[in-house]
Amino acid sequence: MTVKATGKAGAGRTAKIKITRVDKRCKTQNGLHGEGCYGCNCDDDCCQWGCDVDLATLKVIFRKRELIEPLVDARLEDCFKTGLKEDEDYAGGAYRETAVRPEDTRCAFHLRHQPRGCALFFLWANRKAPKRIVPTICRIYPLTWHRGRLFVDGPLRKLCKAKEKTGKGVKVPSLLETQAKELRALFEIEEK
Ligand code: SF4
Ligand code: SF4
Repeated sequence: MTVKATGKAGAGRTAKIKITRVDKRCKTQNGLHGEGCYGCNCDDDCCQWGCDVDLATLKVIFRKRELIEPLVDARLEDCFKTGLKEDEDYAGGAYRETAVRPEDTRCAFHLRHQPRGCALFFLWANRKAPKRIVPTICRIYPLTWHRGRLFVDGPLRKLCKAKEKTGKGVKVPSLLETQAKELRALFEIEEK
């Protein structure tokens, strides 16, 4: 298979990622309830690892270069630490890993001029960029997947909303429930 991540081709319609096993914990772990990540004091801690960007998303990112680069003070070429790796587990059949900035230990796409937030989410929410500009993993996190299995990534960051203490007897939706909309958009879940 030949794959390119220059962004010259259109993102087109991308097949959903197939899931055949959902870990029980996805249904029991508290989800990103209330205002979710935005209503949390976690300082976007999960962005300290960077992320894998699927090919379908890479194409959109490179099309929006002029909008992204000023938000992150970097050229797109410097926002990745790997080249393209073929892998059918990712939308479009390949992915690249983002770089992590040594200055603030945040993913290269974390907003530069604001204490919190992601440039890619920002462009979707405020500049009408297609939602595909946000990597699949960042749309469902802290859920993740591997070879047909959906599970909770671990360890959860200390201040993650999913770990927030709730009052006695207060029931909040599970991760599977709070992430349901994104899961429906990106995954085909058929448990065996
Ligand atoms: S792409 Fe955005 S949300 Fe995902 S790890 Fe990077 S900064 Fe965080
Ligand atoms: S997933 Fe958890 S750690 Fe990451 S931004 Fe949301 S609340 Fe914070």
